[in-house]
Amino acid sequence: MTQQDKRALVVGLGIAGISAAIGLRRAGWEPVIVERAPQRRTGGYFVGVFPDGKQAAEDLGMTPHLHVRNPTAGQDWNVGPSGRATPGAGFLDQPGAPYAVLRGDIEQGLWRTLQDLGDVQVRFDTRPVAITQTPQRAKVTLEEAATGAHTVEEYDLVVGADGVRSSVRELAFGPHQDYLDQWQAIICAFELDRQVPGYGPQDGIINARSRRAAWVFGFADRTPTVLLTYRTKDVDAQFTRPALETLREVYAGMDHPALTHALDELGRAPDFLFDSVNQVKMPTWRSGRVVLVGDAAWCLNLYSGMGSTAAMRGGADLGKALAAHPGDLQAALAEWEKGMRPFITHHQRRARIMQQLFVPSGPVAERVRALVLGTIGAVGRLKSRKTGADAPVGG
Ligand SMILES: Cc1cc2nc3c(=O)[nH]c(=O)nc-3n(C[C@H](O)[C@H](O)[C@H](O)COP(=O)(O)OP(=O)(O)OC[C@H]3O[C@@H](n4cnc5c(N)ncnc54)[C@H](O)[C@@H]3O)c2cc1C
Repeated sequence: MTQQDKRALVVGLGIAGISAAIGLRRAGWEPVIVERAPQRRTGGYFVGVFPDGKQAAEDLGMTPHLHVRNPTAGQDWNVGPSGRATPGAGFLDQPGAPYAVLRGDIEQGLWRTLQDLGDVQVRFDTRPVAITQTPQRAKVTLEEAATGAHTVEEYDLVVGADGVRSSVRELAFGPHQDYLDQWQAIICAFELDRQVPGYGPQDGIINARSRRAAWVFGFADRTPTVLLTYRTKDVDAQFTRPALETLREVYAGMDHPALTHALDELGRAPDFLFDSVNQVKMPTWRSGRVVLVGDAAWCLNLYSGMGSTAAMRGGADLGKALAAHPGDLQAALAEWEKGMRPFITHHQRRARIMQQLFVPSGPVAERVRALVLGTIGAVGRLKSRKTGADAPVGG
């Protein structure tokens, strides 16, 4: 590999893909990005960015472009088994003073950072359909959605940053079922048009019962987002009819104004995510000149609270490793994977424990969770970061 041979195809324009493109650019590579969607997405769902994520953002030079939306007023409310809401600890009360953002805020910050580094070729409506490799090059067949036209292009490196159901992984490593570890849980995430009636505009609401939970995340300068997550023994059965129908049945009897409002808004939402919860487990994230980053490689899943962080760190560290081994791609990729692996293993394991915070596994876990968070909430209230904790009208 010479100084001229540094052209990389990045597949996916999410957090991992843009971070990798920044890392590559900084290491003197020329990234070309292909994205299946017709345009860059915005909005999304609540994402908490913890200290490791802040550090990764800093390493990428993205911090000045990150729009942070932590509530500056209001309160988090915990809904008890009786349906009564009381002030309590919220997601942002966890250690590390996490940032509250939307996924789209991170992507936007990264995008601006990448643009500061100069023009990068991005092709929308484009996806890879075949990858073959020689020791010298990776040959990728790209398909354009509009015309169905195929072109074959050669790259020195292919970065698969195309999410949990990655095509690059399928093409270069094998079928999804070899790597997807499906959990018996479902998520639904969407943006609210209006806050739940009776609550302050920045309030958060948590209703975490045994096996089913509803979270409303408040922000300083926009309407809240919702996360519905529940456990199920039959994941496939959840997708046999419209999501709203499934959710109304799952949440039947868990009456609270926040849930009623959220389900009504979901019926009108222009966009929402309804999916099973998975982790991706792979013995290696590299094969010759193909490397996976982000959810494509290791999907930690939402319960870990570290997926965005890992995606940013993956891209930043890839760039550092390539810069450290300018003439030896395999050494760079090996060093990168060795550095990332302990962090990923730790957070994949931790996600199982964190799942109990989001949606307790049964009545005992529900009570333990309430006890632990009640204590944290009491401590938190003593040094409250928020004001205005009058009881909401809604419940
Ligand atoms: C509800 C929810 C809450 C979360 N909360 C948090 C949190 O609090 N903290 C945190 O750190 N993380 C959180 N996460 C995780 C975090 O959002 C993800 O880990 C992160 O966004 C993954 O980024 P990615 O770029 O790897 O994948 P993705 O976001 O999936 O992006 C993949 C991109 O590739 C494109 N693509 C897909 N297939 C192809 C193809 N064949 N060809 C071309 N392009 C393709 C897609 O269109 C997309 O643009 C949460 C996730 C969810 C679902």
